[in-house]
Amino acid sequence: VDSGIVHGPAVAIHGGAGGYREGLGEPIAACLGEVLDRARLMLERGDDAVSVAVYAVSTMESFEFLNAGYGSALCSDGTVEMSASVMRGSDRAAGAVAGVRHAEHPIRAAAGLLDAREVLLIGEAADRHAVSCGVEHRPNEFFVTARQRDRLRSSAGEHGATVGAVCLDLHGALAAATSTGGVRGQPPGRVGDSPLVGAGTWADQNAAVSCTGEGEAFIRTGAAHCAARLVADRASVEIAGAKALEEVAALGASGGLIILNSTGTVAMPFTTQAMPRGTWRAGEQPEVFVDEPNQRPVQGRVGG
Ligand code: ASP
Repeated sequence: VDSGIVHGPAVAIHGGAGGYREGLGEPIAACLGEVLDRARLMLERGDDAVSVAVYAVSTMESFEFLNAGYGSALCSDGTVEMSASVMRGSDRAAGAVAGVRHAEHPIRAAAGLLDAREVLLIGEAADRHAVSCGVEHRPNEFFVTARQRDRLRSSAGEHGATVGAVCLDLHGALAAATSTGGVRGQPPGRVGDSPLVGAGTWADQNAAVSCTGEGEAFIRTGAAHCAARLVADRASVEIAGAKALEEVAALGASGGLIILNSTGTVAMPFTTQAMPRGTWRAGEQPEVFVDEPNQRPVQGRVGG
């Protein structure tokens, strides 16, 4: 139960809800650990929540074994299409890109819209916008790894390894960010929940949420907003997160989310086998969890 005492700053990150990642536990844990260490330094020196969430997601986009940016899951035609979104809780500014094929860091392109009139850009226009934000423009093949080529043959239709971050900064502001290559073998043009504000990502003055899982169900339940709304109505993050995932489950789908409230309390529930995740908050040590096949999935509140 949340004591109401503010424990900020705080951060939580995820590397996607899905199946066990045999043999990848260690490198994924190392990546998440590094991201948390750096996020902690940034938050302690007073960086704002958006900068830290974008930093965390951008770093995970560069990591081969997570499904965002370089190493993204492949569409049915063997190419990569990426999407990302970010939301600033203090004023509900939001930025998002979908169907991006060249921007090395989709989340940085999304962040470049936070102070623009538009919230969401798609396709070529989003890639051009990314260049105008100083994001490196890469050929689509840059993002395609041998591992994802193999996986397209063996396990099309699987979701997993989308990345996300939620932050509470020293000044009490919240932010959420999410980035993905989508579902393996998705038809080109398919867009999931990750770039959709209210579905895959949400931040307001009470809560920040980043979702992962079968995107269509997160869209159809407005999952991220649903969880945040419950927190606004005084639910704990544990209950809010669990209820949002119950709605997703009622549509026959699975996934997970990370949710952080304005006092720095985190919940990281999931209904899949695994969801690599980590959290840090002021006065505590960073904690990283990578579920292994011989372990029961951890549900509900972790750490803290
Ligand atoms: N939610 C993402 C999508 O539907 C996939 C994932 O989280 O792994 O595109």
